[in-house]
Amino acid sequence: MRVTYSGLVPDTTPPPAQPDIAPLMAPATDLRGVGANTAALLARVTGGTRVLDLLFHVPESFIDRRDRPTIRAATRGQVATLAVEVVRHESPNSPRAPWRVIVTDGTGFAELVFFKPQRAQALVPGAKILVSGKTDTYQDRLTIPHPDYIVPADQPERVPALEPVWPLTAGLFPNQVRGAMVQALALIPDLPEWHDAALMRREAWPGFATALRALHTPIEHPGAKPRARLAYDELLAHQLAMTWVRSREKSRPGRAQTGTGALRAQALTSFGHQLTASQTTALAEIDADMAAPMRMLRLLQGDVGSGKTLVATLAMLRAVESGAQAALMAPTEILARQHHRTLEKICPVPVALLTGSIKGAARRSVLLGLAAGRVKLVVGTHALFQDGVTYQDLGLAVIDEQHRFGVDQRLLMGGKGAAADVLVMTATPIPRTLLLTQWGEMSVSRLLEKPAGRTPIRTTLHSLSQLETVIEAMARALDRGERIFWVSPLVRESELLDIAAAEDRYVLLRRRFGNRVGIAHGQQDTAIREAALAAFARGETQLLVATTVVEVGVDVPEASVMVVDHAERFGLAQLHQLRGRVGRGAAASFCLLLHEDGLPETARRRLTLLRDTDDGFVIADADFRIRGPGDMLGKRQSGQPGWRLADPVEHEGLLHMASRDAALLLEKDPKLESPRGEAVKILMRLFERGAAVRTLQAG
Ligand code: ADP
Ligand code: MG
Repeated sequence: MRVTYSGLVPDTTPPPAQPDIAPLMAPATDLRGVGANTAALLARVTGGTRVLDLLFHVPESFIDRRDRPTIRAATRGQVATLAVEVVRHESPNSPRAPWRVIVTDGTGFAELVFFKPQRAQALVPGAKILVSGKTDTYQDRLTIPHPDYIVPADQPERVPALEPVWPLTAGLFPNQVRGAMVQALALIPDLPEWHDAALMRREAWPGFATALRALHTPIEHPGAKPRARLAYDELLAHQLAMTWVRSREKSRPGRAQTGTGALRAQALTSFGHQLTASQTTALAEIDADMAAPMRMLRLLQGDVGSGKTLVATLAMLRAVESGAQAALMAPTEILARQHHRTLEKICPVPVALLTGSIKGAARRSVLLGLAAGRVKLVVGTHALFQDGVTYQDLGLAVIDEQHRFGVDQRLLMGGKGAAADVLVMTATPIPRTLLLTQWGEMSVSRLLEKPAGRTPIRTTLHSLSQLETVIEAMARALDRGERIFWVSPLVRESELLDIAAAEDRYVLLRRRFGNRVGIAHGQQDTAIREAALAAFARGETQLLVATTVVEVGVDVPEASVMVVDHAERFGLAQLHQLRGRVGRGAAASFCLLLHEDGLPETARRRLTLLRDTDDGFVIADADFRIRGPGDMLGKRQSGQPGWRLADPVEHEGLLHMASRDAALLLEKDPKLESPRGEAVKILMRLFERGAAVRTLQAG
């Protein structure tokens, strides 16, 4: 049994009637010549360990070796294959000079240049050979420096006509990929076509296996069609899973939750501020959805600090007023605890907390309360929607920071409250295309302004060579009683390095400022980290050194300074999130971005943009263009599959086609029982949307 990408839904064996795709799902180490080391290198470039992951590792370009010019006619600088006879060797006159072999084809002379003499020595004068490689010139003579191929002239088939260029990593060589790929291609079973016949005719697309062969072992240049077909496979699999989830969400009758307004009024009184205009509008939109007898699926989008949590809380109270339960799911334990504190402060009914670290009697009591309906409000992590958690009557589920939850999680969540309304909150303005790929159609409410009384945050850039000056400025701020976040470098490759860097900084600052300094990072025990955050929130420590655990949503209104060490290593949207941690109270706030000396131009431009704008939409857009959509959705953290073959931006047209195709197919054949439906199930398994297929069959 294998566990699917979300790690939540076990993937059981396929029903016997379908073609056996197990060899494709097997680990790549099953292939000859692929040992543990090679498999690890392959996994690094393909993003997976299975044979299928290898097959999805499509070439980024092709080297064409079909050009067979004469020496005289060869265009310098291009890849060519020459049919020549070896004339003589010119051994180097210094040990560092290359070895030269002179060849001719009767139209002129060329030189093969070798930096490793062993290869040259095998070439006997008089031998007839085919030699292929990129040509160059040396003193007016055509050369091929370290040729890619040298084969006997009577074995031309040993020079590949078109050679795929697969993305590689250090230590991984094309011939290893090719050797494994040829075996992998042979393992593809006979598969029925899952695409609509008319579509296949119109696009003149090859079949699935043919497309993979055309890309990995091309005889002629594959053109764009094989890749487009495979991209469409992936997009359709994804759209089907989403459409299915969506239609299930919609088809279940919802419930009308109208509420009395009583709890909400009490909450607003204890909150003590007026709603912003956007909050009022968003809440009215949510209320209308909740009052209607259909299920709500709404996205609440608003920049950091725009007050989404308050809106969500008031929506949750409406569910409770209507006699139902409401749950708020946060992406991390820290955030869950913080939301829990926020809700407890303003809600007139008790709020339960359910996270992975809550165990034993406390957990049992929450679970019993949820099942019996005693617990009306609950905040937690994804623990809220795992097996063993049942709700007596879930009316509203709120998901914070939506991009970290995949389709499978939504399926699980959907199972908890048959008619529950769903509100998704995000600080990341997601382009429409991506919204479509993540959620399908959904309504959107936007919080356009921030609550009044915020002072704008002043952002400045400082080279790390000015670290002393920055530390002295911090000394003055601390003496004024201010509170400072100091976020230390993010080193992408290793969380451990992040922590080492944070700890180094902590030691340095602690030496200067003593026990006014605290530290919080992801590797600490939850209790220790929570205690560090709490001490900072209470003002017992004034400067908190942290890794990005403070990135999303940590709320300490008294903090007025954010220092980001090695700011160039962070994404723009992430820096904006970090900056959003300050400027929440009345004090003038500052964000200091520390960077390496001699920053590259693009890095400097990014930081300057951040300095000059506070508009999350402008920043997200720039980030999207600089880093691409995958990264923006945070797939690395979330463990969601990235796109292997499709690029939702490049293939936007195909994405919309797939979205319509999926809707039509499920309308005609809701359980995928037609011949095409059966074939589509194979597609879904190939692209790991198996969880959706299983729920679909279970009805
Ligand atoms: P978001 O979740 O959108 O990042 P929060 O909900 O955490 O923002 O709100 C940020 C801060 O603004 C919190 O301290 C919250 O109490 C405060 N806040 C929210 N709405 C209002 C309002 N209408 N008036 C004053 N303060 C508000
Ligand atoms: Mg928030």
